[in-house]
This record gives sequence, C-alpha cells and structure tokens, in this order.
Amino acid sequence: MSKYYIASTVFLIALLGSLALDGTLVVPRMWYASLAALFVSITAYGTIVLRTSFFVPVQWRGSGNRIALTFDDGPLPGMTDRILSILAEHNVKATFFCIGHRMEKNPFLIKQMENEGHLLGNHTYWHGAFFNFKSASMVTRELMLTDLACFSILGRRMRLFRPPYGVTNPMIAKALKRTNHTVVGWSVRSFDTITRDPEKLFRRVTAQLKPGDIILFHDYCESTITILPRLIRHITNKGYDLVRVDELLNIKGYAGKEHDGA
Ligand SMILES: [Zn+2]
Repeated sequence: MSKYYIASTVFLIALLGSLALDGTLVVPRMWYASLAALFVSITAYGTIVLRTSFFVPVQWRGSGNRIALTFDDGPLPGMTDRILSILAEHNVKATFFCIGHRMEKNPFLIKQMENEGHLLGNHTYWHGAFFNFKSASMVTRELMLTDLACFSILGRRMRLFRPPYGVTNPMIAKALKRTNHTVVGWSVRSFDTITRDPEKLFRRVTAQLKPGDIILFHDYCESTITILPRLIRHITNKGYDLVRVDELLNIKGYAGKEHDGA
C-alpha cells in the first residue's frame, strides 16, 4: 500500500466526515479549503521528492563504508567515454542510468560500460519534458523500449530505474508495477547541471558525504568530468569503497542474473 493511497484514504475520510457533520454543525468553509490545500501540498511534495517513496518504494541510500557514483542521461560520445577512462584509470565501478534512444545510437559505449564492469539502469527512452504527464501505458512503453535497447546490445534486461527529474506519480507507479523495475534515487544531488564552477561542485559534493551515499551526476556536465579524478581520490582517501548501486543496496542489477560484481 503506497503512502499516496494512505494519504488519499485519510483525505477522503476527513472530507466525508466533515460533510456528515455539516448537517448538525456548521463546518467553516475554510476547513474544506485547508483540507484540500494540505492534501495537494503533501501530494506535490511526494511527487517531486523521490526519497519520500510516496508513490513507489525508492532505494536512495545504502549502508556500510561504501559510496556509489551514478551518472544519468548518457551515453554521449565525447563525454561518457571520458568518464569511463577516468573510472578505469582509478579502477572504480559506477552505475549509468541511460536514455534508451542514446543507447541505440551508441552501442559501443554500452558494450564498453559492460566490459569494464559498470552497471546500467533504465532512465526512460526519450527523457522528454512531458514524461511526467504520460499515461501509464506510455510510461510502460518507454521503459520497455529502453530495456529492449539494452537487451539487444548486451543480452541483459535492466532491473533498476531512475525517474527523470526524480519525479514520480500514479501513472509511473502503475507502469512500474507492470515492468517490475526497482526505483533508485540518490542521497547526494550534485546539481552539476547548473553548477559550472568545478570548485563549487567539488565542495558541494564533498561537504555532504556520508557512508552509504548515492551521488547523482550527469554524463554531459564538463564540471563533473573535471572534478571526477579528484573526487575519487578524496572519497577513497576517506576510507570509502566506491561500488555499483546493486552492490551498495544489495539488490539485483539485471533480471535473471545475480550481481556479478564485475
Ligand atoms: Zn535525467
């Protein structure tokens, strides 16, 4: 039972109770307005704050002296390959939440990720601005198309999904029941898409670090690539192991296969 379902039920009971009392007492109109405002606020907060697990269960932090680096929105030639080189140089495994149509265009990068031991997750097929307004059937189709893109390149089906912008809603929740993906969020948001100053980005990320963190980066951010070698050294010098999210969360990264820890 989702928190959204519980909130809706409580709201409905409060509304019906108020209407019933309205026959005997005069319930102020302000009460109804406040009730509606409260429900809308709670739902809006649950929609945009992924870690609330409001519509679907979300894994957003692990445990132990481990940290996971995650990169969204790739693969992109000229960017993702540079990230992969840095990771290989430091012998670090990471997780890439990929966009389906970019996977199809860049199968060589997908194969490289797999060969170098990284994990791939589903980040929709188009990552369109209106994804959050799509019907459950349309969301299901996007997720399946992205899984198919991965399957046609690697012969593996992704099990992890990260929603674009960290937004969830009843349609996405319904689609995820059909596709059976596990939703993975983050505990550290780097805001690398808006922070061009590498120094500022480095400080923001390192100031928040805690055991079990999942850090959100994006493949297309130059500032992320600039700080990555220094950040890896910083994290490992602090005594943390950098691992893939399936290892951090102790869950399966792909359908039908145990985590291979490659
Ligand atoms: Zn994204």
